[in-house]
Amino acid sequence: MYRCLRGEAYKGLPNFHVGSVWRLIVPTKICSFIWLVAHKRIFTIDNLKKRSLSLANICEMCSEDEETINHIFIHCKFNKDVWDRLRRACGSLETPVRDIFEVISRWPTNCTDDGKSWIRYGVLHSVCWQIWLERNNRIFREVRLQAKVVARKALMDVVEWSVAGGIVDKS
Ligand SMILES: [Zn+2]
Repeated sequence: MYRCLRGEAYKGLPNFHVGSVWRLIVPTKICSFIWLVAHKRIFTIDNLKKRSLSLANICEMCSEDEETINHIFIHCKFNKDVWDRLRRACGSLETPVRDIFEVISRWPTNCTDDGKSWIRYGVLHSVCWQIWLERNNRIFREVRLQAKVVARKALMDVVEWSVAGGIVDKS
């Protein structure tokens, strides 16, 4: 995305400059979702089993491990691919290592620099959101996207949120 933000085309993404992105509006529903993630309140299979639901716990994304919050957002092979693609696109984006709560606690809170912290802030929100949408689409709609498509959707979210921030001209 920094290639895009530096003014180079990035696979069809709108062409704008990092210096112009100093504000993003992350939709309220996604902020609320991140709050639920941070407080371990989303309905991953391990959380549903704690409510005495009898479910087989297997991750829909990789089919290799049990689904927990940390697995689905950090350790899952499929989602690591998504994070890696975004890290390559965004340059300085930190890839979560161990714990999603640690990641969220380190998210930028003071986005006043040249735009990089806003991009990082937006991508961290959008990638978690898109991973969760992909997980739900696989379970409930039997629709499966490739990691590169999920990563691209996350980047497009950030572009849309930049436009919503009134800073970036969509044209
Ligand atoms: Zn997995």
